[in-house]
Amino acid sequence: MVEHFDVVVVGAGISGIGAGYHLQTRCPDRSYVILEGREAIGGTWDLFRYPGIRSDSDMYTLGFGFKPWTAAKAIADGPSILAYLDETMRENGIDRKVRLHHRVLSAKWSTPDARWTVEVERGPERERVQFSCNFLHLCSGYYNYERGYSPEFAGADTFAGRIVHPQFWPNDLDYADKRVVVIGSGATAVTLVPEMAKQAAHVTMLQRSPTYVVSRPSEDAVAEWLKRRLPPKVAYGAVRWKNVLLGQFFFSRTRKYPAKAKERILGWARDHLGEETVAKHFTPTYNPWDQRLCLVPDADLFGALKRGDASVVTDHIDRFTPTGIRLKSGEELPADVIVTATGLELQLMAGIELSIDGTRVDPAQSLNYKGMMFSDIPNLALSFGYTNASWTLKADLTCGYVCRLLNTMRDRGVRQCTPRLDGEPMEEVPFLDFTSGYVTRAMDKFPKQGSKAPWKLHQNYTKDIIALKYGSIDDHMEFSNPEPGRTKRAA
Ligand SMILES: Cc1cc2nc3c(=O)[nH]c(=O)nc-3n(C[C@H](O)[C@H](O)[C@H](O)COP(=O)(O)OP(=O)(O)OC[C@H]3O[C@@H](n4cnc5c(N)ncnc54)[C@H](O)[C@@H]3O)c2cc1C
Repeated sequence: MVEHFDVVVVGAGISGIGAGYHLQTRCPDRSYVILEGREAIGGTWDLFRYPGIRSDSDMYTLGFGFKPWTAAKAIADGPSILAYLDETMRENGIDRKVRLHHRVLSAKWSTPDARWTVEVERGPERERVQFSCNFLHLCSGYYNYERGYSPEFAGADTFAGRIVHPQFWPNDLDYADKRVVVIGSGATAVTLVPEMAKQAAHVTMLQRSPTYVVSRPSEDAVAEWLKRRLPPKVAYGAVRWKNVLLGQFFFSRTRKYPAKAKERILGWARDHLGEETVAKHFTPTYNPWDQRLCLVPDADLFGALKRGDASVVTDHIDRFTPTGIRLKSGEELPADVIVTATGLELQLMAGIELSIDGTRVDPAQSLNYKGMMFSDIPNLALSFGYTNASWTLKADLTCGYVCRLLNTMRDRGVRQCTPRLDGEPMEEVPFLDFTSGYVTRAMDKFPKQGSKAPWKLHQNYTKDIIALKYGSIDDHMEFSNPEPGRTKRAA
């Protein structure tokens, strides 16, 4: 039997839970189900279990627009975020819509039927079942859940200690009084180093090249002041907007005046670590926001370095040895535990195989539409957050837009909506314009973005509010009642 829903949402992380809330409040006459591949909700915030796991953006913008974040810490730990997601689900009855252990493998669109047939692997026995829906909303995140990214390190098999990837943190890892080397300089590495340094004999952060690291207080003094004086929803909304606008201001100034911004960021680091350390280990060759900045709460990383509990080495790995890591400079780093904080393997649409009327769709051949849909792919949206601001800001807008589309289709009595370029000449640029290795490695498999709206990703919340809440819904969107044919991308 094929179970049918108006909307199938894939994934029960932040985006999927937000999608459920929007659907049931704004499209209450439509049925929906959330199919979650894992045995738990929460996505990222359930999967990652490494010491110190936390957000690196503030919870006033990473939280949902409809549910105030009331805890004191603005930069929150993973378990608190997971508890917030769980509470949101239960409060709104979204938990009753979730089917755990339902991993989506493929989705086939039939134009005559105007519906997707979704092939799912269910339960530990991996039983195959099918669902059908009129609209498919992918909330499956942006990376491969099965494996993280780790380069091949020569001699890794000779290392006598343990090698751990942060995506699969072993419960039984005891690093108390051990020598730890954390390879990497991204958000995960800067989180792990001060946290592990609390118990380890010593932690070395081994990086190939420096990253911009910015310290911010974990508690937001303005937010706490407002929370004492205003009702929770009002205070939350005000702090959310304060942080959105400050973030946008900081980002745009940084892009406009990179040299000044670089000097300011390095100056903040120098206040903690001094000239020499910052010149050697915290001065990237690229401009701020060419890659993601790393945020550390309450200067915890700098504190661990100053106390001597941790240190930074900027060098290249020659090979792993039985007792640690030999560097290209000839230096040896002794280690009992090596953590490869070398990143994620980016993956869009969770590797789900899409086809339209029997023809396989290659997402890399399509063009992003409003940061959520794709040219010539009907009745499908994807929640994908900002790279320069909190993910949920964009995910919330995406959910709102999906509801607008669904209600428009109902009101007009049509069953299909398809973004169409319709032959307009368009310069194509990569989906993300970061220079980080984990981004550039994946971009050839991602859809492209265009050079102008609605095909361009703005990475700007206020622009997106205007476009998605108030902009025309007919903008390059074909509403139709299906007839076979016209399923390919217009050249
Ligand atoms: C360690 C870490 C820290 C982060 N910190 C921040 C931060 O501070 N601020 C920020 O804005 N962003 C941060 N991010 C990005 C973060 O992933 C997003 O903010 C947010 O959690 C994404 O939510 P999501 O629901 O879209 O995706 P995810 O959290 O990845 O959830 C996707 C869900 O979809 C499920 N799924 C995937 N494929 C399938 C399938 N085929 N079938 C069924 N289910 C499937 C997964 O099992 C998962 O439950 C961080 C990411 C990581 C890895």
